[in-house]
Amino acid sequence: MSDIEYDLVIVGAGIFGLTFGERATQDGKKVLIIDKRNHIGGNAYSEKNPETGIEVHKYGAHLFHTSNDEVWEYVNRFSSFTNYIHRVYTTHKGEVFPMPINLGTINQFFHSNYSPDEAKALVAKQSEELGGKTPENLDEQGVSLIGRPLYEAFIKNYTAKQWQTDPKLLDPSIIKRLPVRYNYDNRYFNDKYEGLPVNGYAALFENMIKNENITVKLETDFFDESYKFSKSKIVGKVPVVYTGPIDKYFDYEYGQLGWRTLDFEESVENVDDYQGIGAMNYADLEQPYTRILEFKHFHPEREYKAGKTVIVKEFSRFAEKNDEPYYPVNTPEDAKNFELYKKRADAENNVIFGGRLGVYKYFDMHQVFASALEAYKSFSF
Ligand code: FAD
Ligand code: UDP
Repeated sequence: MSDIEYDLVIVGAGIFGLTFGERATQDGKKVLIIDKRNHIGGNAYSEKNPETGIEVHKYGAHLFHTSNDEVWEYVNRFSSFTNYIHRVYTTHKGEVFPMPINLGTINQFFHSNYSPDEAKALVAKQSEELGGKTPENLDEQGVSLIGRPLYEAFIKNYTAKQWQTDPKLLDPSIIKRLPVRYNYDNRYFNDKYEGLPVNGYAALFENMIKNENITVKLETDFFDESYKFSKSKIVGKVPVVYTGPIDKYFDYEYGQLGWRTLDFEESVENVDDYQGIGAMNYADLEQPYTRILEFKHFHPEREYKAGKTVIVKEFSRFAEKNDEPYYPVNTPEDAKNFELYKKRADAENNVIFGGRLGVYKYFDMHQVFASALEAYKSFSF
């Protein structure tokens, strides 16, 4: 008989952990969720800037979008959503262009008035250098999608700042998620549903854990041996859902997997409107940051103090061991090492590895909700 008073222990109060935990409590299970941070919600957490009351997403802008009906219905149980539609602009050589690349970007860049078919024909011609080959890396994917001139203007240097990795070593999927459109539609996402939680992400996550069967313990590290429910004390005795980094779980036995981290430089500016849009990307190397976010634009329906706005500049760099891991680099070497970790994870007794850190994969929020819902369905106590 185990002396553990919970049916399930979840490491990480991010979207994967909260969703899995919420589902289990609906089945009457007693769940403990621990997180080493001082808040729930993982990277999707947001809080109000104290000086202005503007909601700032603490770990970078988080825009919710999905085409998955089940996920949309699920998240709407915990919050209603605004009708915010995300749009992004990018600055290149002192000029502002719409992103993702659409007919407006193409015509502005080439000082032209191409029709959709003419623009398609131009890009097809410019990507002929690949000779019809299926793109095997980000560089080839970029040229194949939009031709070399547009790739070099809008993708190459931005990607160099974001990844500091030879684009020939990066996975093509990184930019495949950016649409390319031969019309003037400049929505950033293609999804059926889009919006932001009306009362903020923190309120949505709080609603997910409003259940007497969930206990949340913050500022608690699973690897801290002084903790009652640390790894060595509970694995094998009670089911565990682990959403931290997979390499850390195995004490970096096969080396560290590559991650990018971000530094955020936040400031309050004494103007009503700093840049006229929530996200302005910087496509050139001249600015060391990749983008500037201005958070008040994400909630145009809210009333904010006049004369003040919050902006955040994002700087990307390689993550060291104690940095927050944000984006998996996933070079071929990383992919090989991940497979070794994955084999170990599959053999681990009654431990589910989930979320973006647990499976070393770039996921948007809706994909994490979906994967946690699926993982719970195929799990039995
Ligand atoms: P996380 O949110 O990382 O949660 C894991 C939790 O585990 C963390 O809270 C961590 O503290 C905890 N943990 C780790 N190790 C331990 C340990 N040893 N002990 C205790 N706790 C531990 N998605 C979108 O859909 N739209 C966007 O616009 C978007 N923008 C993004 C921008 C940035 C800069 C980043 C980094 C991500 C963005 N995402 C976006 C993705 C989104 O953040 C993720 O899909 C989602 O938050 C991942 O949830 P998760 O539960 O997998 O992981
Ligand atoms: N990207 C780019 N220029 C841009 C926007 C995106 O080159 O203006 C590339 C870049 O490699 C980035 C990827 O497309 O990592 C995906 O962009 P997205 O905005 O989806 O995600 P991010 O990684 O910036 O959060």
